[in-house]
Amino acid sequence: MPQLILALDQGTTSSRAILFDEAGQLLETAQQEFPQIFPRPGWVEHDPHDIWRTQRDVARAVLDRAKVSAADVAAIGITNQRETTLIWDRRTGEPVYNAIVWQCRRTAPMCDALRAEGFDAVIRAKTGLVTDAYFSGTKVAWLLDNVPGTRPRAERGELAFGTVDTWLLWNLSGGALHVTDPTNASRTLLYNIYKGDWDDEILAHLNIPRSLLPEVRPSSAVYGESVAHVLGASIPLAGMAGDQQAALFGQACHAPGMAKNTYGTGSFVLLNTGESGVESKSNLVTTIAWQLEGGPVTYALEGSIFVTGAAVQWLRDGLGIIGNAAEVEPLAGSVESADGVYFVPAFVGLGAPHWDAYARGTLIGMTRGTTRAHIARATLDAIALQSCDVLDAMHADSGITLSALRVDGGAAKNDLLMQIQADLLGVPVQRPAVTETTALGAAYLAGLAVGVWPDTDALARQWTIDRTFEPRMADDERQSLIAGWRRAVERASGWADGA
Ligand code: ADP
Repeated sequence: MPQLILALDQGTTSSRAILFDEAGQLLETAQQEFPQIFPRPGWVEHDPHDIWRTQRDVARAVLDRAKVSAADVAAIGITNQRETTLIWDRRTGEPVYNAIVWQCRRTAPMCDALRAEGFDAVIRAKTGLVTDAYFSGTKVAWLLDNVPGTRPRAERGELAFGTVDTWLLWNLSGGALHVTDPTNASRTLLYNIYKGDWDDEILAHLNIPRSLLPEVRPSSAVYGESVAHVLGASIPLAGMAGDQQAALFGQACHAPGMAKNTYGTGSFVLLNTGESGVESKSNLVTTIAWQLEGGPVTYALEGSIFVTGAAVQWLRDGLGIIGNAAEVEPLAGSVESADGVYFVPAFVGLGAPHWDAYARGTLIGMTRGTTRAHIARATLDAIALQSCDVLDAMHADSGITLSALRVDGGAAKNDLLMQIQADLLGVPVQRPAVTETTALGAAYLAGLAVGVWPDTDALARQWTIDRTFEPRMADDERQSLIAGWRRAVERASGWADGA
């Protein structure tokens, strides 16, 4: 009985494949970047063939490197960049246009119009989402309206819509499967997350025929098998989830009240709220965390922060005060505190929970004594303080008090940052031994479906901590830093609207 799991992690800039064993240990990885296409300012596309080709090639490469054959693999799990939108021909599999990437702003005017007519309230109540170009729904409408011939073909039932999970599953199965999972569906703007079905009112309003849409199956279930020629033998296709939800699952945040934060370019905080979807009053998004076969839908609150690790990149590339990202830690650690300096890295506005498109980067509180070390320290404070803002909003919305925060992503390597995070949150921060939590989550979902693991308890037992950071800061110091941060955010707010 094969026990290895192949996780496919299709990201925004690269495709990766990771092979895990039944202990959840990483055996081998392969990664390939692919081109980003920017046809106009604010537009972002990927060539769907690049997505599939790089994903297939890294899957083959990882098996080669690990010297295992497809017959040794018990199941494939998929995790993916979310919201990115594709439409293809059901007969030929040929896309009608490039994939429109989540970052693409081309449908911002359509979203403005939906908000102006008040339809955003309907969207929020049914999908848990804010009406923003980020999500797939308006991208689908754009393709139908702007790619010649697409609408009549869609109305004749000849076309298929999918997010990247669906596109990969389609290709892996040789066109046999047109399926998505509830986590990916919950990011489309077209899916009623409370009823668990595509929403006819929203579809009608956006003029999207239902015939385009994939079947929604649980995040952990045997959907079918890969066709033999892709990897040398057929392998069960058994799990799918969007990247952030997969990371929550990979962090074994199975119970309500558990949360993870991924510190990359930006940060994504997800809080498991259990079987009830909490409607946010604080500008967070309500989303589906996962659904296991035969189980209930598990919901999450999600907050995205635009600039966290990218602020460290700016210290390196914009200010030139560090040579590489890792140098921020000793530099920031060379001072006891930022000494009253605050840095609000609102380079592209502020995301959750502020949602201020006009906020701009602000460095405030400097004196003649301020050095680059204080600025480095203020940068780490800012990464942690922005996460505190989101977790505070989650607490306000859900009433849930966090007992620990599980962390991953490139900047979670920074011990000082993790200590600052624990201090400012006042709860322990836990960094796992396996930090490839996104891929691990996809592997867990697939392995559960084929019986490599019996249940989520077995996964929770497997999940191990590399290091726990306990809060050490005195309460009054914490309060004073948070109060200073709030004042700094106020100064940064609305800057670019010129008012
Ligand atoms: P992404 O998946 O968004 O590309 P990663 O998870 O690879 O991001 O993390 C990369 C980010 O982490 C970069 O923005 C980088 O500046 C930041 N980073 C990497 N190492 C450190 C570190 N030691 N301290 C702080 N930030 C870091």
